[in-house]
Amino acid sequence: MIKKVLIANRGEIAVRIIRACRDLHIKSVAIYTKPDEHCLHVKIASEAYCIGNEAIKGYLDAQKIVQIAKECKADAIHPGYGFLSENYEFAKLVEDSGLIFIGPKAEVIKKMGNKNIARELMQKNGIPIVPGTKALNNCSIEEIKEKALKIGYPVILKASGGGGGRGIKEVWSEEKLEESLEHCKKEAKAYFNNDEVFMEKLIENPRHIEFQILADNYGNIIHLCERDCSIQRRHQKIIEIAPSPYLSEHLRKIMGVSAIAAAKAAGYTNAGTVEFLLDDYNRFYFMEMNTRIQVEHAVSEEITGVDLVVRQIRYAAGEILDLEQSDIKPYGFAIEARINAENVWNNFSPTPGLISAYYPALGPSVRVDSHIYKDYVIPPFYDSLIAKLIVKATSYDLAVNKLERALEEFSIEGVKTIIPFLLAIAKSREFRKGFFDTSYVENNMQKLLEKIKNDEKTNKDESIAAISAALNKHLKGE
Ligand code: ADP
Ligand code: ADP
Ligand code: MG
Repeated sequence: MIKKVLIANRGEIAVRIIRACRDLHIKSVAIYTKPDEHCLHVKIASEAYCIGNEAIKGYLDAQKIVQIAKECKADAIHPGYGFLSENYEFAKLVEDSGLIFIGPKAEVIKKMGNKNIARELMQKNGIPIVPGTKALNNCSIEEIKEKALKIGYPVILKASGGGGGRGIKEVWSEEKLEESLEHCKKEAKAYFNNDEVFMEKLIENPRHIEFQILADNYGNIIHLCERDCSIQRRHQKIIEIAPSPYLSEHLRKIMGVSAIAAAKAAGYTNAGTVEFLLDDYNRFYFMEMNTRIQVEHAVSEEITGVDLVVRQIRYAAGEILDLEQSDIKPYGFAIEARINAENVWNNFSPTPGLISAYYPALGPSVRVDSHIYKDYVIPPFYDSLIAKLIVKATSYDLAVNKLERALEEFSIEGVKTIIPFLLAIAKSREFRKGFFDTSYVENNMQKLLEKIKNDEKTNKDESIAAISAALNKHLKGE
């Protein structure tokens, strides 16, 4: 039995996990650093402890987090996403301290956290992987050039320990290979403290299709269908859809079987995600496994009715998976739009600051997962995700309608957000038709920005027209 959970995270995911604890009548413990003292997760948890003055350091202080968990008599630690969530040493420390780590075993995190090792494991188990190499760090540049020629340009360089879209570099010709390799290694070292990189064939115009896995500690594993995360900017997802509007029932079945085989090969327990790329010919390739709850988990919850965070806690506590694959009957479509505090007009740079007004979208089948509120000040230290808007409807077309409506109603004042950009995507013909791949956003950037400008102009013209009509009436004494 888990009676108290420490949440080793902040922001929207900390709030999401605390809500799951509250739904289960389990006590929750928040941790926070000084700049986060007014954060919502601190306010709604049963208890909260400050873990230092520096904005980020405390959330990465594994020893201190475990110490607090023990002192306050928590039974388990939920790592959320980002921060220590995919750090196997942290998971090991938690396990060794006699606490429950809400996630897979440390050794599984270690295996799957290295994309190179994960690829090897999948290949051994007959799961298709993107054609590519092992780690390149001990190879000469001549050898690497040879490998690239063999794979065939374009290729993609990737950090073995990468995540969050970082440490990825596309290479379209041999002239750029050496420079890109150095760049990729540098980024890998800076972000992940590991400069190991490898190379893959760059799959042109693929879809990103990932399967949500749910498993208990006794070898029972199911999937909760797929999410289409092809709407990305710089390899970072911004809109996610469940199920994919593109996949046929047949493809869903065979990819689902592969996803479960991948999770079984890894010895997976708890919730996780198997990511695939799908090419023009409907060939799919294992890309990586994320050994944690994902940002976009809510869309899977909405179509299946399964609360993933609640299930994470229950299966970590030792409950047996009480769902079979045939119990998962997805209903309708759900779409998530990530609302980032960023200025579209300044190359999507973060826009920290005071939220002077906040009117989240409401109404039937609209869900908002967020930690922000009126008068909250977005600190400059963390990633720019401030809210997730999730809508659902019986068909993809109606879900897109709802997304448009909810984005139009969503109002955040004081800081610039990417809401107008998300709206431009939602209103595009390609999104409506389901005609997009991972390069859609980058390839249509100019068109999307122009759409925002035109919409803003129309809104302005309409409000000017409304003001002059009102003024006219007033002057006429009506
Ligand atoms: P998801 O894979 O759930 O869609 P992202 O890849 O966008 O989400 O990453 C989720 C969060 O975790 C982001 O805040 C990102 O910056 C962070 N993150 C992801 N992978 C890593 C990593 N290996 N190290 C540090 N932070 C990471
Ligand atoms: P991260 O750990 O940062 O999430 P991934 O390996 O999952 O990194 O890749 C992130 C994104 O980069 C993918 O969703 C896809 O858009 C793109 N990508 C990765 N590998 C390839 C590839 N071999 N070919 C084409 N695009 C790729
Ligand atoms: Mg990924």
